Amino acid sequence: MNSESNVPHFDPPLPISLFLKSSANTYIYDDLRQFEHHFLHFLKKIDYDYTKPLALSAPSSDELVFILASCWRLGIPFVPIDYKLSQKEQLVLLNQLDIELLITDQETSNLSLQSANIEQFSLSKILSPDFTPKEWVAEHKESVKPAQLFGYFFTSGTTGSPKIVPLKRRQMLYAAQASSQNLQPRRNHLWLLCLPLHHIGGISVILRSLLYGSGIYRMDKFNPTKTIALISQYKQLVAASMVPTMLNRLMNRNDFAAHDNFQAILLGGGPITPSLIDDCFNRGIPIITSYGMTESCAQIAANPLKTVGDLSRPKKSVGKVFDPNNIDIRNDEGHSVEPSVSGQIWLKGPQIFDGYLINNNADFFDSEGWFNTGDYGYLNDQNELFIEARRTDLIISGGENIAPLEVENALEALPNIEEAAVVGLPDEKWGQKVVAIVKTTNNQKIKSGTIQKLLKDHLQSFKIPKEIVQVDSIPISKTGKIKRLKAKEYFDK
Ligand code: ATP
Ligand code: MG
Repeated sequence: MNSESNVPHFDPPLPISLFLKSSANTYIYDDLRQFEHHFLHFLKKIDYDYTKPLALSAPSSDELVFILASCWRLGIPFVPIDYKLSQKEQLVLLNQLDIELLITDQETSNLSLQSANIEQFSLSKILSPDFTPKEWVAEHKESVKPAQLFGYFFTSGTTGSPKIVPLKRRQMLYAAQASSQNLQPRRNHLWLLCLPLHHIGGISVILRSLLYGSGIYRMDKFNPTKTIALISQYKQLVAASMVPTMLNRLMNRNDFAAHDNFQAILLGGGPITPSLIDDCFNRGIPIITSYGMTESCAQIAANPLKTVGDLSRPKKSVGKVFDPNNIDIRNDEGHSVEPSVSGQIWLKGPQIFDGYLINNNADFFDSEGWFNTGDYGYLNDQNELFIEARRTDLIISGGENIAPLEVENALEALPNIEEAAVVGLPDEKWGQKVVAIVKTTNNQKIKSGTIQKLLKDHLQSFKIPKEIVQVDSIPISKTGKIKRLKAKEYFDK
């Protein structure tokens, strides 16, 4: 592991202005320090043990952004929880993590915590008029160390129950530094924050902003009409972070365009279809594709900003893994493979977490500390990464590997097929067989035979789904990924 002396050091000039623009279009704070004084005072008043993570369960709001930012600046570990989970689900998580303090939004909180040993406060309580003396805050901050816990984060739960990922401050610093070198945020820039704040993707937007002094334009909830207005007209807004499903919704609208100052939409968190990349290019929407996961503090590979719109580059690549992290592509036996050969993606480096809180880490790490991402892909001879599938999603039929994404792309390129999800089902003859669910335009009926025939021009025959079921909607997770286990249920009946 890296010694503490190698940890990137950030010492932005004070006062740090978190240039936060709320959905109401007004600047609500220009000095985050004020908030953190209130916050520290509140924690001292309730005699809180700062070494223990507190939980945050509230919809996106300016106050929540300030708490998250203060947690970073004061070194208070936290656990962001999806406030939309049921009361029971939230309580299970809080108990599992031994949480003693929960901060919620008064209006939406429905947690009855009488039985649990958890103190609950609303965001507004923290904004008491009391201040901590300046010296206390300074003294407190001096004790904050890079090796400390930044927080516990939940993975999206695409392949099962969400896993709990402890991330250290040092790991987040490396991640923020690497992605900022790539994206070059500036002090007078605003970055659109429309990702949920209970996921590492949204939290990294705040952290980057804090460390580099660029601003945030926060949106309560992703709103396509408002996003289009901002990206096409609001010159101060130069970048946005999105998952592919959000961008798809924008691209479905004819009025979507980017103003001259707009640098790029940072896209990641799930598969990005070639047709989306093509559409963006043809319509002059600048995008940067990236790859990452909760376990790598969000993005760990991305195409550089300067390559936006460069047609000579391999379109489907998610770029190189950020220095000083390392990547290795290995076959199922665990041996490294040559460039352009597909295999499992293994990562190692200062951005990679040290291990899950609950899962058996021996299943995910080798003896040298390499982490198996569970994703499948390859590197070209320039070390640029291409993502093909999750290892668990790969369909192996008659000894051939089939990436569901390739079949989904072919299906979605056919007329009147809007969305598709492809999965493998057990098959006596072939081991697994390819099947698909599709959503058609206006739910019009299309015969499976017709679809299969059309696919013949685009796919080898073993990749053509043997069964196709029409559905009203494709099951998609909150971070925009296909819920394949749910898709399989259409075939169990
Ligand atoms: P779980 O680990 O609980 O099953 P999850 O892996 O979806 O859920 P996240 O950490 O939010 O949880 O997502 C990271 C995953 O998202 C990656 O491991 C990868 O499978 C997928 N992903 C991220 N970026 C891309 C990309 N550019 N292309 C394809 N897949 C991507
Ligand atoms: Mg995962």
